[in-house]
Amino acid sequence: MEKRLIITVDGPAGSGKSTVSRILAERISYIYLDTGLLYRAVAYKAMQHGISIEDDEALQKLCDGINIPFETDNGKMKVLMDGDDVSDRVRTEEIGMFASSVSAVFAVRDALLLPQRSAGRYGGIVAEGRDMGTIVFPGADIKFFLDADADERARRRYAQLMENGARVDLAEIKRGLEARDYQDTQRKIAPLKPAVDSVIIDTTGIDVDDVIEKMSIIVEQHTKMTVS
Ligand code: C5P
Repeated sequence: MEKRLIITVDGPAGSGKSTVSRILAERISYIYLDTGLLYRAVAYKAMQHGISIEDDEALQKLCDGINIPFETDNGKMKVLMDGDDVSDRVRTEEIGMFASSVSAVFAVRDALLLPQRSAGRYGGIVAEGRDMGTIVFPGADIKFFLDADADERARRRYAQLMENGARVDLAEIKRGLEARDYQDTQRKIAPLKPAVDSVIIDTTGIDVDDVIEKMSIIVEQHTKMTVS
């Protein structure tokens, strides 16, 4: 029987990792795990409870026994909060920034570690985030790290948000992305960085199909399967 791999895709915001991970997972019939959505859901809940980022104790309490059910439906990941599907609601820049602050707290990362690992326990997963190849799945079969220059990442995020009907300013988006990257790369626990054994792909000026093509070749080499 064909081995079902664990494939990790890490990288900064706007590097294109969500789009390519989702499409790649769909093509090879793997589970798509968008771990950013889990951090966003925790941030959303903290916001609803009016918890400040300085309040470690309240965050710890929020995370004790926290249960965030998630599922992939039609290639799209959904996350539920107290039975309510909050997936679309949490994809704002404001929650992205708060998620970046909240995700630097140990109690939050600790609470999410097991559910993420458990989603990959049988392999057959494309897991996307910041620490997939370094912390969550250090033994992954294939590790990708996607990057792109800040202007291009900002333009992509801008286009995505406008498509979803948000009214946003490009320069502001760029400032936000850079601030988030800074926090994500400088934090003490699970900072954003490529795993030493990752394949780094700079997606600046490369379209989605070409990035997927590059990734597919590597997946085919590992599995002898044809990705189409
Ligand atoms: O990927 P996305 O932009 O939705 O992630 C939101 C934030 O969640 C990131 O800026 C990062 O701080 C945090 N995150 C993380 N580890 C992950 C995925 C996301 O710290 N594996």
